[in-house]
Amino acid sequence: MTTTKLAVPYTAFKQEASVIKEELSAAFDNVLESGRYIMGPELATFEREFGEICQTKFALGVDNGTSALFLVLRSLGLKNTDEVITAPNSFLASASSIALAGARPAFADVGRDGNIDPARLEDAIGPRTKAVMPVHLTGRPARMPEILEIAKRHNLFVLEDAAQAVGASLNGRPVGSWGDAASFSLHPLKNLHALGDGGMIATSSQDLYNDILKARNHGLRDRETSDFWSYNCRLDELQAAFLRVQARYLEEWTQARREKAFRYNELLRPYVEVPEEGQGERCVYQTYVIRAERRDALVQYLRDNGVEALVHYRILIPLQPAARELGYSANDFPEAARQAERIISLPIYSSLTEEQQDYVAELIRSFYA
Ligand SMILES: *Cc1c(COP(=O)(O)O)cnc(C)c1O
Repeated sequence: MTTTKLAVPYTAFKQEASVIKEELSAAFDNVLESGRYIMGPELATFEREFGEICQTKFALGVDNGTSALFLVLRSLGLKNTDEVITAPNSFLASASSIALAGARPAFADVGRDGNIDPARLEDAIGPRTKAVMPVHLTGRPARMPEILEIAKRHNLFVLEDAAQAVGASLNGRPVGSWGDAASFSLHPLKNLHALGDGGMIATSSQDLYNDILKARNHGLRDRETSDFWSYNCRLDELQAAFLRVQARYLEEWTQARREKAFRYNELLRPYVEVPEEGQGERCVYQTYVIRAERRDALVQYLRDNGVEALVHYRILIPLQPAARELGYSANDFPEAARQAERIISLPIYSSLTEEQQDYVAELIRSFYA
């Protein structure tokens, strides 16, 4: 290595926030002066704006992405013999939300694209399957036309886990508008994020909307009347106000992420497998994930040289201790298991510089030299 050491942290929250600091401060002042902290006009407006992003009739703010998944599944009234099929290589919440809603998580292996393989999904469907939860992992849209066709044939509910994919689309149609409902996370690591936790549900179903409206707020149908026991999963006015500021930059920042991803692809293609976009896909790169030989050694080498590389996710959900009683093994998901040993998430954000990208690429080149 001839290059001098350069710090490439995994996130750049402070730099990103500094660009919109005045607008965030103004949003804070507005909410403070309004005296409305919960379920007020900022939330209502953000929900309308988010529905426009997803092209759905309704959007509902909730306290985090896990609640967003859980509340949709809860509305289905699942029994403990019912199964919901999701991707084995996702974040834990894709499966925990199924278990918390009272059903059994089931998994179908992924394809080369890292998303659920429609053929494996079809294999995994049984008499107890009630719903499928494709995940748009890394911000890459899952193969929704085939998944919807299969779900229709088997009469299954489709919940998109779009936590990583706000702004992504397939064949010009945004994620969140394909399934019966979609869940989003607004966690700081996600492309559109609160200054803390937050989540969103998108749907065009009036019945589902009405039910979740109550379920996120103690089962209340009005101020005084509760139809069923439920939780408090509301999204704060303050977060909604901050999110409205962030939403104004979503397109610009998504475009910046995409350009960084394409530039990484050019630089890294000779040494590792890079995330090439498929036909009709608009990926938003919540994570920029390469697949590499000698993964653990490369991650260590990058980190030793100041590049904060991570792995999302090292342990498949069905192989977690929490999933022990489901009885899966790595042999059940050969493709996901193979990818889990090779994946590396590299730093990506709108303020990532070309100098930083070149430095990362030079390290990877020298590692394999
Ligand atoms: C982040 C994430 C969630 C959970 O969202 P939280 O807001 O952290 O609760 C669910 N699914 C996927 C795929 C995620 O990346």
